[in-house]
Amino acid sequence: MRRAGFLGRWAAAAVALAALTARPCSADVSFQRERELGRRFALAARGRLPLVGDPDVLRLVRRVGGRIASHLEDSFFDYHFAVIRDPSINAFAVPGGYVYVHTGLLVGVASEDELAGVLGHEIAHVHAHHLARQQESTQLMSHAALLGVLLSVIHPGFGALASAASAAQQLRYRREFEQEADYLGARYAQAAGYDPAAMLSFFEKLAGQQRMAGPTPPPYLLTHPLTDERMTRLQAVLRATPGTQTEKGERSFELARAHALAAFRQGPPLQVLSEYRQSYQSEPTDGRRAYLYGLVALEAGRLETAGPPLEAARKAGVEAATRELGRLALRGRNADEARKMLRAAVERDPNDPLAWFELGRAEEEVGETGRARDAFRRALDLDPELAEAHRRLGILQGKQGQQGRGFYHLGMAAYLAGEYPRAVAQLERAADILPKDDPDRRRARDLSAELREFLQMERPKKAAPPPTTAPALPARAQAPAVQ
Ligand code: ZN
Repeated sequence: MRRAGFLGRWAAAAVALAALTARPCSADVSFQRERELGRRFALAARGRLPLVGDPDVLRLVRRVGGRIASHLEDSFFDYHFAVIRDPSINAFAVPGGYVYVHTGLLVGVASEDELAGVLGHEIAHVHAHHLARQQESTQLMSHAALLGVLLSVIHPGFGALASAASAAQQLRYRREFEQEADYLGARYAQAAGYDPAAMLSFFEKLAGQQRMAGPTPPPYLLTHPLTDERMTRLQAVLRATPGTQTEKGERSFELARAHALAAFRQGPPLQVLSEYRQSYQSEPTDGRRAYLYGLVALEAGRLETAGPPLEAARKAGVEAATRELGRLALRGRNADEARKMLRAAVERDPNDPLAWFELGRAEEEVGETGRARDAFRRALDLDPELAEAHRRLGILQGKQGQQGRGFYHLGMAAYLAGEYPRAVAQLERAADILPKDDPDRRRARDLSAELREFLQMERPKKAAPPPTTAPALPARAQAPAVQ
């Protein structure tokens, strides 16, 4: 396949390296502690960072990242991927398998191969326990302090340090770890079927930005210093082996859609809408441009604007436009039309969580509550983090007299929105009511206990205990991702 065997030259060095990286240096740094650190970071991030909830965006990142992670030998961790609304080109990995990318990165990559290169590099840092080993060997920070610094690097003020730059300084990977992550990341990306050379092309782009930006390089380069030596080594390895070139600048449909949504979320929204309008108007017969403009208009709530380009896209053969036309009909209170379109959409792609979720809404609108419940469940099977599907399912089941299930899903919606005190209250109610043999009862119990502990650790002094009685319904919609 692509660039088969391209890393032959490094093979000998790699064997030695792999032996070193297979286990952490000290027994003190156990995998379990890394997992706990990652989980705590993930809870803090969900409560404090603007995470993007768009199923289309998450589906792409999880697909590319998951494909890479599935090629790891002896994987110690489950990998979780999340997207933060932030225009800077950045990605980072937290010990224990938690990988975060900024919307700026999704907007900045030209191909899935480039995204795979960055994700492969981050996964390599996690898999080889780099941060944990670095802290261990230098004795610089306890895990608690590391957590604070990790938070600071994404968002100054959230974590322990006031400046993202000084946090990044503390998290800067050692030179040999950077080279190891380059090598391993390229290998993983290649094993997953991506072009490892794309990593280099992306780093070259970043290096260009670094030269232009002067004293404030892109944040990614603060934690992953891009030295000439590192570039030279990567170039030598990649250029030594002829391989199939992927088409430069060609975006897959899914990447183009994730790019549009990421750009819209990071904003400014009207400017992004205007850019997609111009792109469409410059080539109105291009179905993909029409689709993307219609999609952004729909997300912006410009229903009248969205219709014509989405129709044009469908006529031009962009089948994905059917789902958007269904969503549009639903927002225009035309539930019958919406059901027709959304049923066609789930038939076309039965693994599309957003299509199932929107179909659930349309079924609900016409009073088909059984079908609505099934569609919401299907959406959650495909994307268990679809907060709005949990919320609507919770309300629906509460109305149907299934109080335990209702509280469970409302609790999950609150948890996913980072509203932990509310989540604790609702999940505890669910655990009290659900039958003993229901697996969600245990899930509710475990998660509420974990969140309670997290809240206590977070606010040891002025903490008000979580409420002991749950409100019947959430005060407001929690998930901005789907409207
Ligand atoms: Zn790195």
